[in-house]
Amino acid sequence: MNDTLYVSPLAEITTLGDDKIAMSVVGRRFTVEDKVGMLKTILDQAGQGVRLAALTESMADSFPPEAVEAAVTALVNTRVLVRDDARAGGDATHQHLQHRRELDALIPRDQLAAYDRANWLLVLAGEGACADALAEALAQMNVPLQRIGRDGELPDTGDKRALLLVCSDFEDFASFRAMNAKAVERGLASLYLGIDWSTVQCGPMVMPKATACYECYFHRVRSTRKFVAEFDVRSKPENILYHALPSRLAIQFGVAEASRLVLQYLSGTLDNLQHSVFSEIDSLTGETHRSRVLRLPRCACCGNASTARPVGTVFQQSLLRRRA
Ligand SMILES: [Zn+2]
Repeated sequence: MNDTLYVSPLAEITTLGDDKIAMSVVGRRFTVEDKVGMLKTILDQAGQGVRLAALTESMADSFPPEAVEAAVTALVNTRVLVRDDARAGGDATHQHLQHRRELDALIPRDQLAAYDRANWLLVLAGEGACADALAEALAQMNVPLQRIGRDGELPDTGDKRALLLVCSDFEDFASFRAMNAKAVERGLASLYLGIDWSTVQCGPMVMPKATACYECYFHRVRSTRKFVAEFDVRSKPENILYHALPSRLAIQFGVAEASRLVLQYLSGTLDNLQHSVFSEIDSLTGETHRSRVLRLPRCACCGNASTARPVGTVFQQSLLRRRA
């Protein structure tokens, strides 16, 4: 154990009087006695990063090296001390994600490398304030990102753990449907974010073959509209003279919601998702409504049911079978 050790970005450490130290690492809390001040010295030095050999040497006058080593081992085992200096970045997003992934334990250990951040690729499609805000927020969180235009060609994602995020400052059904078709064909997971005045429309999160796709969502929405003909006219881009400007507040809610899903998907904590979720957030009231999007068996993009003839009712089917 000769690597440099640092205090974990997930650790909270407080002193309780002169002889006790309370430590918690994301919720796991323990209090230890430190009557002679050994732990305090170790923790002080680990703030800037310290090697075990340097530590035992600097403390040799007051403490035997075996005692220091044992204390350091205990701090490493309880994850108070870690091997990378993640505190320096000022952000613990990825450490929290990793911790959550370990709690969920969905991914076998030998496959963890595929979920490593070095293997991620987020393809961000779209133009406008929402796309720019997302690109900035995700870059700040060090998510590897490639931007393409509104109807851009999908890049080759190779062996990367990739996600396509399509976003727009309004409900851009046409480009969302076009990008969804490309992503489903490619077998690439995708997510959609649009702003409708002051409301965020985020979803569905599409995992090809596993969940409903954007086309399924579109047709389900369309079938709920009273005036379908008007909806069809309004959802064609060539008919839009002006679209409503999004609000900055709505964009911020949208960035938060979409970033959460991006990070969850890429880090592997959504891998057991069985259904697509669509969230609607009213940025003026904070009200959030999440709903499931069910697959359409005959969806033009992801469906696998035959479109050759209507299925009919169960009763009609039994009649047909009897005749055959
Ligand atoms: Zn579909």
